Amino acid sequence: MLAYRMTNWGAPPETVTLPDPEPGPGEVLVRVAGCGLCRSDLTMRHLPAAAGEALGWRMPFTLGHETAGWIADTGEAVALVSPASCGTCRWCLRGQDSGCPHGLAGRGYGRDGGLAEYVLVDDRRALLPLGDLDPRHAGPLTDAGATAHHAVRRVLPRLGPGATAVVIGAGGLGAFAIQFLRVLTAAEVIAVDPLPARRSHAETIGAHQSVAELPKRWKVEVVLDFVGTDETITAGVRAVGTGGAYGLIGSAGGRLGGPWFSTLPRDGEVFTFQGSSIADAQDVIALARAGLIRNQVQEFGFGEIDRAYGEMAAGTVAGRAVIVL
Ligand SMILES: [Zn+2]
Ligand SMILES: [Zn+2]
Repeated sequence: MLAYRMTNWGAPPETVTLPDPEPGPGEVLVRVAGCGLCRSDLTMRHLPAAAGEALGWRMPFTLGHETAGWIADTGEAVALVSPASCGTCRWCLRGQDSGCPHGLAGRGYGRDGGLAEYVLVDDRRALLPLGDLDPRHAGPLTDAGATAHHAVRRVLPRLGPGATAVVIGAGGLGAFAIQFLRVLTAAEVIAVDPLPARRSHAETIGAHQSVAELPKRWKVEVVLDFVGTDETITAGVRAVGTGGAYGLIGSAGGRLGGPWFSTLPRDGEVFTFQGSSIADAQDVIALARAGLIRNQVQEFGFGEIDRAYGEMAAGTVAGRAVIVL
C-alpha cells in the first residue's frame, strides 16, 4: 500500500510503498476513506529527535491523525480516535483521557496514522461508528472538531442566557467552536478574524456577529482563542469580565505579560490544553449525525498531499483539507 510517512527526524515526509498490514490477534484492519490534514503535521517535520523521543514517538511513522474509513471485515463506516490513551490510568478512568500520559504518541504522531490505504487499530475504544456520515469527510470531526468541543464543553456552565462568547480565529477549529456554541448554549457568539472571507463564513454557520479585531473595552463571559499570538492572548485575556474564562487552544506560541492583578480576570479562569477526549469525539460525531453541525472540507487526492499542505499553510483551503483515497 501507499503511505505518506515521516522517515527521519527533521526530514520532509515521503510517499513510500509498504506491505498491506495484516491484523494480528485483537487488531482491526481499517481501509482508509479519507484523512484530514492538520497544522500540527507541519510542526512535526521540524521536531528535534530528542523532543520526539521524549514523547515516546518512533521513526518511521505514517502521518495523518484525522482518519475515517471502513472496517475491512464488515464494511462498517468508522472514524478513528488518534491519541493512544491507555484506558486504565486515573485520567482515563475519570473520562479525562486527554490527560493520559500514553496519549502523547498517537495515530499519525509517533505511530502509524491515516495517510495510507490501511490502518491497524489495536483498541476498540478508538473505533467510532459513523452511521450515515461520509467516512471520506468525517476524519476532522475527531481532531479539529473534538478539540474545539473540548474547549466549549469546559466553558458551558458560564454561558447562560445573556452571556457572550468570543471565538478568536474562525478557521478550522474556530468554525467548529462557533457551531457548538450555537447548538449547546443560548449565548451571543462573536467571531474575531482579520480575514473577511472567514468572518462571512463564521456568520453563515451561526456567529451572531463578526469583527476584525477585539474592541479594547469589551468585557465578556468567555473568550476562546484559536490563534495564540501575543496579540490575541493579550486582547483575549483583557476582554474577560469578572468570573469569566479565557481558553487558549491556538498554538502560535504567544506570551502574556504584565502584573497579574491588572492582567488576569478577577475570580475567573485562564486555561489551556492539548487534544481532546474520546467522549468529545463521540459527541461531535453525534452532533454531525443529527445534522446539527456542518463539517466543511476541501478534497485532495493522495498524489496531491504536498500541494494540500502548501494550501493549508497559505490559508487558502475552504474548511479542512481532506485527502480522499
Ligand atoms: Zn491535529
Ligand atoms: Zn490512561
